Amino acid sequence: MASLKNKLPTNQNGNYFVDNTCIDCGTCMWISPNVFSENADQSHVHSQPHNYEEEILTLRALFSCPTYSIGYLSKPKLLNEVRESFPVLIEKNIYHLGFHSEKSFGATSYLIRDPRGNLLIDSPKFFKPLAEKINQLGGIKYIFLTHSDDVADHEEYKIFFGAERIIHEADSENYPYEILLKGTNDYKLYDDLVLIPTPGHTKGSVCLLYKNEFLFTGDHLAYETELKHLIGFKSACWYSLSELNHSIEKLNNYQFRSVLPGHGFPFNTNNSEQMKLEIKKSIEYMNS
Ligand code: SF4
Repeated sequence: MASLKNKLPTNQNGNYFVDNTCIDCGTCMWISPNVFSENADQSHVHSQPHNYEEEILTLRALFSCPTYSIGYLSKPKLLNEVRESFPVLIEKNIYHLGFHSEKSFGATSYLIRDPRGNLLIDSPKFFKPLAEKINQLGGIKYIFLTHSDDVADHEEYKIFFGAERIIHEADSENYPYEILLKGTNDYKLYDDLVLIPTPGHTKGSVCLLYKNEFLFTGDHLAYETELKHLIGFKSACWYSLSELNHSIEKLNNYQFRSVLPGHGFPFNTNNSEQMKLEIKKSIEYMNS
């Protein structure tokens, strides 16, 4: 729980604050951008929530913060309601799980609810009430790990649900798995669910394309709010920048309208030309 004595001095006065345990993972900033922003390599409350919607988003950020760095002076009325609202529906059958883990530097985890078997995409903290809520949505058949950094409590979720874990062999050295991806060819889990190897950030990074609409990118690609376009993680590339660039170019071969990253802001458009332009801008950025 965030501590008032460690409250960062730049927080705007009011009920909510960030303390000095913040690791600057960016989670609160994309969930609740009207309230949280970056300041000197940490987050702070630049504006207290002004209405019901902002209060809800602030509390979702609080429950998603991997380091429990977001606190309050008096207990918010909506606290329990928001905690119990996870998994939060993003769109159609795609959910945000919250409860980000410090083991994954606060990476976002998602659930695809699908009648052929639900998929967990990267792992949040193991939190039994969350697992029970996922059970009510049909459980988890597969745990797809986009790469080796964002695996968090995969073992606990595997045991709770009896799920099969999927990871690329190049990132599998320290992780048990049930399904191993190899090489650079696409792997179809379902007809409309394709795993696309995208080496670069790590050698075994893989994106997941669902229904030619949603691209789950792990740490391959995310929206950058200052540049106002998609970018590859140039400053956090652990394997190969040239491979990363090639893997971004490769995405031109696929159709999707929504980018859902592990870290950073999501991006949505209904305009396929706009998405192509975003990919082009990200390639230019990588080569700049
Ligand atoms: S979610 Fe928590 S750790 Fe991440 S930037 Fe916000 S306050 Fe910091």
